[in-house]
Amino acid sequence: MIVMKFGGTSVESAAAIERAARIVKAHLERRPVVVVSAMGKTTNRLLAAATDAVHGRREQSLAALESLRDYHLRETQPVISEADWPEARRVIETHFQELVELVRGLAVLGELTPRSLDAIASYGERLSSQLVALAFRNFGMDTAHVDARCLILTDARHTQANPLFPETYARLAEAIPPLAAEKVVVLGGFIGATEKGVTTTLGRGGSDFTASIVGAGIGAEEIQIWTDVDGMLTCDPRILPGGHRVKIISFAEAAELAYFGAKVLHPSTVLPAVEKNIPVRILNSRRPEVEGTRIVAEPVRCDNVVKAIACKRGITVVNVRSTRMLMAYGFLRRIFEVFDRCETPVDMVSTSEVSVSLTIDNNARLEEICQELRGFSEVEVEENQAIVCLVGDNIRYTPGVAGRVFRAIEDINVRMISQGASLLNLSFVVAEPDLVRTVERLHAEFFSRLDPAVFD
Ligand code: ADP
Ligand code: ASP
Ligand code: MG
Repeated sequence: MIVMKFGGTSVESAAAIERAARIVKAHLERRPVVVVSAMGKTTNRLLAAATDAVHGRREQSLAALESLRDYHLRETQPVISEADWPEARRVIETHFQELVELVRGLAVLGELTPRSLDAIASYGERLSSQLVALAFRNFGMDTAHVDARCLILTDARHTQANPLFPETYARLAEAIPPLAAEKVVVLGGFIGATEKGVTTTLGRGGSDFTASIVGAGIGAEEIQIWTDVDGMLTCDPRILPGGHRVKIISFAEAAELAYFGAKVLHPSTVLPAVEKNIPVRILNSRRPEVEGTRIVAEPVRCDNVVKAIACKRGITVVNVRSTRMLMAYGFLRRIFEVFDRCETPVDMVSTSEVSVSLTIDNNARLEEICQELRGFSEVEVEENQAIVCLVGDNIRYTPGVAGRVFRAIEDINVRMISQGASLLNLSFVVAEPDLVRTVERLHAEFFSRLDPAVFD
C-alpha cells in the first residue's frame, strides 16, 4: 500500500481532479490510499465566512457560501459520470444546507469558538473527499470513501488537535487494508474527531500530517505528497523564485525546514513517518514525470553545506529584561510559564545575563503575554520581523558557516542568532523588509555550485 496525498491546488478544478485521477490510476498495483485536501482555497473561504457571520456581516457570509457551493458544482460536474451526478449533487446540497444553518447560528451567537471553527473548516475536506471518490469512478477506478473522523481520533484541542496515536493506528490498521485490497480508498485530510465524536482539525496545512498518520497506521511502503511545486526547493519560491529542486533530504532536515516555514510540508508530517521508517516523497501533480524530493531516514553525502533556506514572515520578537532578578535562577522558568499559560509556542530564544529575546509567530495573545511579563520584568516588542533558517546536516561538521553567512549579509542588521540547538540549522532574525535581499545573498553564497547527487 502507498498513501497519495493531493493538496488543495491538486484538486482545485475539474482539470486538476482529472490529473490526480490519472496519477492514482498509474499506481493502482501499489494499492493507493488517497488523502485529499479541500478544493483550492475552500478552507480560507469557509473560515472567512465564519468570521463575517460573527461580525455582523451575515449576508456577505451567506453569499460567500453560495459562491463556494457553485464552485463545487461547477468544478466537479465535468469529471463525475451522469450516473453518479445525482449523488454528488446531493452531497454538495446537503453539506451547504448544513453550512448555511451553522453560519446563521454563528451570526445569532456572535461568537466564534475554536470548536465552531473546526466544525466549519471540516466541510472543505468532507466535500472534496466524497466528490473526488465519485470522480475517480468516472476514470475507471473502484473507490471507497471513508470519513476520516471515524479513524483519526484526537484530543479536544480544537484548531490544533493532537492525534491519539495508539487508538488511531489501531483503527486505521483494522479498517483500511481490507478495503484497499479491493478499492481505491479516499479520505479527507486535516480532520478528525474526539472520542465523543466532536469534529476537530489538525491545524492549517494538516492534510500532510493526515497522510503520514495514515501511512504509519497501515504500514505503507511510501507516503507521496502531491503538490504544486517540483519538490522541496533550495528556497521558498514565494520569496525568491529560481531555487533548485532538492532530490533527496533526511527526515531531520525536512522537519527543520518545515518547522521554519517551508510550507510545502506540514511540520508534524515527518514524525509518524520517521517512527515507522516510511519514505516520504514530495511530487508535482502538474508535472508527475519529475522525480520530486525523497525524504529518507539517513542524511546522504553532499558537497554543499546547506540543503535549503527556509523563512518565516510575520515574526514578533519579545525582549524581556530582568529588573530585579540579575543572575537569578527561576527567571527563565517564569518567562516560559507565561508563554505556556498563553498557549503560544516560542520559535527561537537567545539569552544574555539579564535579558532574553524570544520569537513568536502568533500574536493573538501578545497583549496578555506582555502584561504578565511586565509583572516581573521590562518588556519590549518588535513586530514585522522574519526568521531565516539555513538547514543542512553538514552544518554540524563544517567550520566557518556562520562566517560565510554574516559576511554575505554584512550590511543587513541581524537581530537574533541561534545555532547549535539542533546542530543542523543556523537561524537568525532580520526585519521583514530585509528578508528578500537576505535570502538572495545567501542563496547566491551557498548554491552557486551544486552537488548533482543532491540537487537538480
Ligand atoms: P498543498 O495545498 O499542496 O498542501 P501548500 O501551498 O501547502 O500546498 O505547499 C506548497 C507551497 O509551499 C508551494 O507552492 C510553495 O510556495 C511553498 N513553499 C515554501 N517553501 C518551499 C520550499 N522550500 N520548497 C518548495 N515549496 C515551498
Ligand atoms: N485544507 C486545510 C488547509 O487549508 C488542510 C490542508 O490543505 O492541508 O489548511
Ligand atoms: Mg499544504
